[in-house]
Amino acid sequence: MTQRTLAIIKPDAVAKNVTGKIIARVEDVGFTIVAAKMIHMTDAQARGFYIVHKERPFYASLCAFMTQGPCMPMVLEADGAIQKWRDLMGATNPANAAPGTIRKDFASSIEANAVHGSDAPETAAFEIPYFFASLELCPR
Ligand code: ADP
Ligand code: MG
Repeated sequence: MTQRTLAIIKPDAVAKNVTGKIIARVEDVGFTIVAAKMIHMTDAQARGFYIVHKERPFYASLCAFMTQGPCMPMVLEADGAIQKWRDLMGATNPANAAPGTIRKDFASSIEANAVHGSDAPETAAFEIPYFFASLELCPR
């Protein structure tokens, strides 16, 4: 089933100049990039995006990290896009990420872990319109 997921190339990966390498992996495994843009989030925007984590001890630090520089949200489309992108990202903690995953190769720490991906259809349904209006999505 064709599905969409919200991916973000996080500020650590943008700062390392590896956006192109990450996008190449996205295309190589067959995703269609339906939308993409570079943004620099405010604290309020990061807090809203990660609202599900507001009770977690790392919430404030995570929001500070996500606002330290630009990031690149994208909408990716594929059969089973949500799980397919999570598989390509690898485990949250790069120490546990499988060889060949983006986090294994580009993440610096459990927090500065290079990429984000929606974890369920309901999450994608919140996250995609958080960053993109319908007019910014380019299906083909
Ligand atoms: P994922 O991004 O793999 O879905 P989570 O949803 O659990 O992981 O966490 C959201 C983000 O919060 C992670 O990608 C990471 O940037 C950060 N994070 C998660 N756990 C920790 C932690 N223990 N310490 C610091 N930051 C964390
Ligand atoms: Mg998550």
